[in-house]
Amino acid sequence: MKLILLGSGAVRPDLERWGPSQIVHAGGENLLIDCGRGATMRMVQAGIPIQELRRVFFTHHHFDHNCDFAYLFLSSWTLGRNHPMEIYGPRDTERFCRVLFEELYREDINTRRIQPTYPPRGREYVARDVIEDEWTLEGKDYTVRMVHTIHKPQILDNLAFRIESGGRSVVVAGDNVVCESLMKLAEGCDLLVHECSFPSSRIEEHKWGGFHTPPRLLGRWAKERGVKRLLLKHFCIQKGVAVEPMVEEVRSEFGDEGLIVGRDLMTVEV
Ligand SMILES: [Zn+2]
Ligand SMILES: [Zn+2]
Repeated sequence: MKLILLGSGAVRPDLERWGPSQIVHAGGENLLIDCGRGATMRMVQAGIPIQELRRVFFTHHHFDHNCDFAYLFLSSWTLGRNHPMEIYGPRDTERFCRVLFEELYREDINTRRIQPTYPPRGREYVARDVIEDEWTLEGKDYTVRMVHTIHKPQILDNLAFRIESGGRSVVVAGDNVVCESLMKLAEGCDLLVHECSFPSSRIEEHKWGGFHTPPRLLGRWAKERGVKRLLLKHFCIQKGVAVEPMVEEVRSEFGDEGLIVGRDLMTVEV
């Protein structure tokens, strides 16, 4: 397996760090998890044929994690995708797709459907809200286990994914506070891909910061739960927030070995 980090940033426009998005290459298939700002362009840069994408997963529906999806879906169709896209995510995933493709872009799709080079099946999709506490998707040579995690309680449903293939494991989380379901999911995994949004001090002093994990606590629990390698992403760089002090916080608990500071288009073999 391998993990390709497409975007290591978050909400703010940043040409070095694009929006949250990653590919897990498992069982010969490219699985896309989240589709933030510029994800489609990053896939093209990474040499991933977007018209072959079959399965897309969303951690949650904050716009920084899904804003490139209409572009991906429609452009992959016009480039020759001839199969329905399967989309898995938390509550409201089905509605998100329905509003985009059956309401907002309905006329657009209708004007293009007569174009003979646009395959008819590429307009189709199958979207599934994962409402079970835990659910596993069986792929050809991989499995994707999904659990709910806590980001904004009572407002946004949120998922994390554990992909296993050939005895190896990658856990991809979205944005979240420290929560038991994720710690259990990530136990002993070969690679955990986790947000590192703000320094602990800022998370503790701002009420909105309570929606993210303090880097020091992340380092601590990842170590305790036997995570072998930890890749940091979703850096919210702005005035007073820089990458290195946050990484240092994680390092002080997790250690240096196996700690990876994410950057766009980085590939990690698992
Ligand atoms: Zn985010
Ligand atoms: Zn979020």
